[in-house]
Amino acid sequence: MNLLPFGKLSEFKPRQFVPSGADLGNWDAIAPLFDRLEARAPQCKSTAEFERWLLDWSELSAALDQESSCRYIAMTCHTDNEEAKRAYLHFVENVEPQIKPRQFKLAQTYVEHPLRSQLPRPRFNVFDRDTKLQVELFRPENVPLETEEAKLGQQYQELVGSLTVQFQGEERTLPQMARFLEETDRSVRKEAWELVAKRRLQEVGRFEEIFDKLLGLREKIAANAGFKNYLEYAFRARGRFDYTPEDCRKFHDAIEQEVIPLLRRLQAERKAKLGLDSLRPWDTAVDPLNRPPLRPFEKVEQMTERTQTIFRHVDSGLANGFKTMRENRLLDLENRKGKAPGGYQSTLAEARLPFIFMNAVGLQRDVETMLHEAGHAFHALATRQEDLYAYRGAPIEFCEVASMSMELLGNEFLEEFYAPAEANRARRKHLEGIIEIFPWIATVDAFQHWIYTHPGHSRAERSKAWLALMDRFGGDIDWRSHEEGRANLWHRQLHIFLHPFYYVEYGIAQLGALQVWANSKRDKAGALTAYQRGLSLGGSRPLPELFQAAGCKFDFSVKTVKPLIEMVQKELDQLPLK
Ligand SMILES: [Zn+2]
Repeated sequence: MNLLPFGKLSEFKPRQFVPSGADLGNWDAIAPLFDRLEARAPQCKSTAEFERWLLDWSELSAALDQESSCRYIAMTCHTDNEEAKRAYLHFVENVEPQIKPRQFKLAQTYVEHPLRSQLPRPRFNVFDRDTKLQVELFRPENVPLETEEAKLGQQYQELVGSLTVQFQGEERTLPQMARFLEETDRSVRKEAWELVAKRRLQEVGRFEEIFDKLLGLREKIAANAGFKNYLEYAFRARGRFDYTPEDCRKFHDAIEQEVIPLLRRLQAERKAKLGLDSLRPWDTAVDPLNRPPLRPFEKVEQMTERTQTIFRHVDSGLANGFKTMRENRLLDLENRKGKAPGGYQSTLAEARLPFIFMNAVGLQRDVETMLHEAGHAFHALATRQEDLYAYRGAPIEFCEVASMSMELLGNEFLEEFYAPAEANRARRKHLEGIIEIFPWIATVDAFQHWIYTHPGHSRAERSKAWLALMDRFGGDIDWRSHEEGRANLWHRQLHIFLHPFYYVEYGIAQLGALQVWANSKRDKAGALTAYQRGLSLGGSRPLPELFQAAGCKFDFSVKTVKPLIEMVQKELDQLPLK
């Protein structure tokens, strides 16, 4: 395939197990490698041999991962290319389903191996813990339930994707409607918002039905695995060894106590600037001074160059990493016909190099995405020396510290893109976004705590629980005459349907990022050294140690939240709305 933006990348270390030139898109070439690993395990007679076996397994996993990534990248860079699409789908449909059970078999082989307990500690603690968990939680009777769950997730996405409205003479999808909420003409915003809300409400029955089925399946999955409810199961299954449901509930309390007052203050300021009697749901996205959108750059090359300069200001090591990515064409940034939407960072697991994909069009959002994905890329670069594939990736709670920190650290130098007043406007918007997202995270998380600990609840009770959380975390938005939309607002949150309990991670990570930023204000060099030290550990240590290495506390009680929100408030005070 020569549809990749980058040229041929050599492996970070020469392969020792996977034959060079093996066709990794062909299961017949892959299966013998799994056979060999399975057969070899019982023959390992020393820990050195067993470690070699683990590294060979690692090498195979990385090679397959990179094969999958390359096909995904080629497909998203050329959605109009049939060959790229076929190659990607072939891998997803014919190769990956074969890989999964074989990977699980190797995990089982590892867990049952007599030499396992003799592997060096603490080096293998996390790997051991995670692999054991994977084997322990597996129940064959859950496999068809999980397939059913995935199908319902698909139905949810199909339903959401099918929704359109007729607006200003055109049929538009709901994501396309979002930009009208930034219109300075309030009647346009109102009409756009109400159309979307109404369209969603027409499907309430279907959203509820899909969710009821998901709930039933999840309760069964948890019971099959021997858990008293799905909350307990999900915490295990997500590998949350280092925090409990109770810690999350304390986090919700801390957000209520420390963030909500600031949220209300920001909402009051917005209301005053817009000259409104009350802030309605369609008034939250518009610029409060009715200014046109910021234009940070004309051409994507300018964005790349200015981002490079920002990294030079932040840290020379990071700047070099970004330079390497540019030189190796590991960036595909500009929006063009035939590209998939959105942005992502992907890691080429054998070359141990990151790749960034996005669709930049010249908005401040692009600058934010660039800094965010670069943070993920720096994480990948920092773990290049790690030979155990599993340790080159970290838990999401820490991965997002890498990326969100980079947004905050990079924003200090937005003058590379803007005049000072505009740079402050962008910074203010970013910080307001942080204050707004915490309460939403708490709402979504607390709601799921309620759902999965109230078996047999009715739809009406569920709705009541949601509304109570909206009262607690929603601030001062006036929902009059849209009560039904408010009661069903959670239907919008994909995670509740597709990835239960996966959301609080963003809040936990944001606390880490704010701590890195706070550290950098006191001691920039020290904070950046710690940040990179944390990143370089990959996933080799438990979360509290990753946070600690990066100079942060892994704690989300009021003790941590309070000073961080005070800092954000102080920053906002210095960035007045003009
Ligand atoms: Zn991210």
